[in-house]
Amino acid sequence: CGIVGYVGSDRSIEVLIGGLRRLEYRGYDSAGVAVIDAEGSLGTAKKSGKLQALVDELDAHPINNGTTGIGHTRWATHGGPTDQNAHPHLGDEGRLAVIHNGIIENFSELRDELLADGFSFRSETDTEVAAVLLGRDYADSGDLVEAFRRTVSRLEGAFTLLAVHKDQPGLVVGARRNSPLVIGLGEGENFLGSDVAAFVEYTRNAVAIGQDQIVAITADSVSVTGFDGNPVEAEPFEVAWDA
Ligand code: GLU
Repeated sequence: CGIVGYVGSDRSIEVLIGGLRRLEYRGYDSAGVAVIDAEGSLGTAKKSGKLQALVDELDAHPINNGTTGIGHTRWATHGGPTDQNAHPHLGDEGRLAVIHNGIIENFSELRDELLADGFSFRSETDTEVAAVLLGRDYADSGDLVEAFRRTVSRLEGAFTLLAVHKDQPGLVVGARRNSPLVIGLGEGENFLGSDVAAFVEYTRNAVAIGQDQIVAITADSVSVTGFDGNPVEAEPFEVAWDA
């Protein structure tokens, strides 16, 4: 339902929780984060209920407050609002994390394909299929952007997806089809959001991502391509002060 991504300095948890708080108005039933530090350790936390339940969980069981992270508030469509079904979902044997807004319509055929290939699932969500598929594609190529492109090209329906991999600290990849995603441009840090509210506290410089496009952000770079891999001309805009 709400999506935030961040690459920058050692404070991603504050940025992610702050962004999720600004997206709370959209409604949600669960929340979660995945964070990677400069050494490539991946920490995740997720809880059903209010954002405060996630904050309490992070207080009780701290994870690294690294430079790179993704955060999600969920409005359940596939699988009840449980801790296990909350995002992020993991792939590549726990080395990568994915969050998702929307519905992957062909998830059951993809799930059958992955089950037949020996993969297993820990949740009832459509989202976990994308995480496991990305893990398989990453194992083939070792290139997160390339693997992500292959994965999202196979998904049908409506999705905004973000992913991080512990072997690629400092990189967040995102894609969108029939569901919104916006880049926020900072100084030595960059943001992604399902809407500008996710990062408006930090920057007013934004870039809209078009239909069927993929974005890769690091602390000091942003690249946007089509699902076909061709670079696209992004459209910068300034967020109005009353946003
Ligand atoms: N379909 C996904 C799920 O049920 C994502 C729902 C959302 O947009 O929050 O977990």
